[in-house]
Amino acid sequence: MPSIVQELSGHRDLGGLRKVVECPAQATVLREGPAQDSGPGAAWLAYLCSVHAVDLDGWPGPAEHPDTGTMPCGTVLDYRSGEQQLQSHADLWLTPLTGVDPAAHEGAWADVLDQADRVLLARVDEAAAAGEDSPLQNILVLMDVARRAADRGNLRVAATSLTYCEIFAQSL
Ligand SMILES: [Zn+2]
Repeated sequence: MPSIVQELSGHRDLGGLRKVVECPAQATVLREGPAQDSGPGAAWLAYLCSVHAVDLDGWPGPAEHPDTGTMPCGTVLDYRSGEQQLQSHADLWLTPLTGVDPAAHEGAWADVLDQADRVLLARVDEAAAAGEDSPLQNILVLMDVARRAADRGNLRVAATSLTYCEIFAQSL
């Protein structure tokens, strides 16, 4: 018998594994994201505790299913393409953090990530000049990986790198 995850995802391969909120609780709810643009299955599945099922921005879904602590709260199984995942990162934290908007780069992700990398580097340099360690340093290392992957056309690796940046960004 297929699991609920296999059924809800339309038996697609996992595109990325994310942790979108820092929370020590186990999930009580499995939220089904919107339908994929093409083909069967949900775009993503999010495991949430009872608090974050009510209070989590940016992850609206059409349906919820009970869960008995399969995963820690905030775990997201993302079934979207690398490009769609990059757009999700931009919407949720990358553009708010850096001011770099993908819409201004017409989908050229290598340019978007290069620009974001420059913004972050300038801030880290600024902090260093003031004798401070910037918390952005962790993000910068992985942003560089993302930037180079996108430059080679590997948007899935770029998106995977941003999943780590996303976790660091939560503690800023
Ligand atoms: Zn939670």
